[in-house]
Amino acid sequence: MSSNRVGLGTSLWSAQAHMPSVLDSRVTLVAGDGAYLTTSDGARLLDATAGLWHANVGHGRESIARAAYEQMCRLETYHVFGRFANEPALQLADRVTAMGPIPDAKVFWTSGGSDAVDLACKLARRHWQLENRPDKRIILSRANAYHGLHGFGTSIAGLEYNRDGYGSDSLIPETARIPTNDLAGVAAVIAELGPERIAAIVAEPVMGTGGVIPPEPGYLDGLQRLARANDILFIVDEVITGFGRTGVMFASERFGLQPDMVLMAKGITSGYAPLGGVLIAPAVWGRFFADADAPMFRHGLTYSGHATACAVAATNLDILEQEGLVERAAELEGVLARAVKPLADHELVADVRSAGFMAGVQLLPEVPGEAIADACIAGGVVMRAINNNTLQICPPFVVTDEEVSRIAATIQDALDGFA
Ligand code: PLP
Repeated sequence: MSSNRVGLGTSLWSAQAHMPSVLDSRVTLVAGDGAYLTTSDGARLLDATAGLWHANVGHGRESIARAAYEQMCRLETYHVFGRFANEPALQLADRVTAMGPIPDAKVFWTSGGSDAVDLACKLARRHWQLENRPDKRIILSRANAYHGLHGFGTSIAGLEYNRDGYGSDSLIPETARIPTNDLAGVAAVIAELGPERIAAIVAEPVMGTGGVIPPEPGYLDGLQRLARANDILFIVDEVITGFGRTGVMFASERFGLQPDMVLMAKGITSGYAPLGGVLIAPAVWGRFFADADAPMFRHGLTYSGHATACAVAATNLDILEQEGLVERAAELEGVLARAVKPLADHELVADVRSAGFMAGVQLLPEVPGEAIADACIAGGVVMRAINNNTLQICPPFVVTDEEVSRIAATIQDALDGFA
């Protein structure tokens, strides 16, 4: 699939890209409808990755476009600094805190997932400072984790290539890694560093970009228990899993978690506008709302609570609810798991994992994952190779069972072509 070999867009520096290769092979999308995308060459592709795990309700939703148009005509946005606010930001705050996994939560809006990570890490450190325990500053994250690429996200990256090259082990000092699915290993790190120095643990319920790695039974609640026992805040990164991806609104529900903070983005708008947020528990927000002597959290972005993004999110949530798409994602979990399971027997495949409506097909190290993904695209299915040479499968919730089978069949064909 090649587009724009000459001319258009050679000035664009793409994200996470080896530019010399990209300039020759860009796939330029010009339209989307449901689970499908159209390229500038006129090819129609099934979106097996929901973009970057974000397009939960699918592409081309006119009701969302209309909500954005109407909000922009009325008031494009107004910031929420100090005493200012706008109605969509207020309404969405009440709605999302009521549907989230933290009882009596507050929400702080951001522009996306990386912003939410930065906010949560700052707030964790500020929390312990105000508790008169200023030494509690270390942020723990898991090996292979992806938490975006802002300052804190880069610093707590479990994918080392995202942390490398900025002059020290991390941009922001005092971060450390814990193992995945190994509670004894986590306890050992906590003991070694000293709980009196640890502010927070950040974890994705199902690890996404790290290679679609589900938690082993008991791991996440064990992590939460270890955090509680050591006065460490437990921050759950639901940027991918939030808003239905695991068959319930938040994966924290599915795994019985009650975090101190929950990070959101992507599925909150299904990508129709950039928006993220952090749900915050009373133990953290309490003092900031308490009385005339309450401290301030000196944080905020021009687009925290962007009115049009919040109006878009509200319509996106209407669609999820009215079309029963979270329930549909729960149904699709089994459909996907059954469709990809036989790929585990392929000679080029090391492992197949799934949890919720997301799956990863891990290829053997010597198999060129990017080339397999390209072969899938040539076969009409959008595919990405992520960490651990893993193919990412997480379609919009509007796909049919047959389309899920087609995704698996396309991967099978692509693998056969290399076998
Ligand atoms: N956290 C997780 C788990 C993610 O997967 C991502 C993005 O993929 C982020 C944070 C960062 O979100 P954004 O790209 O919106 O900044």
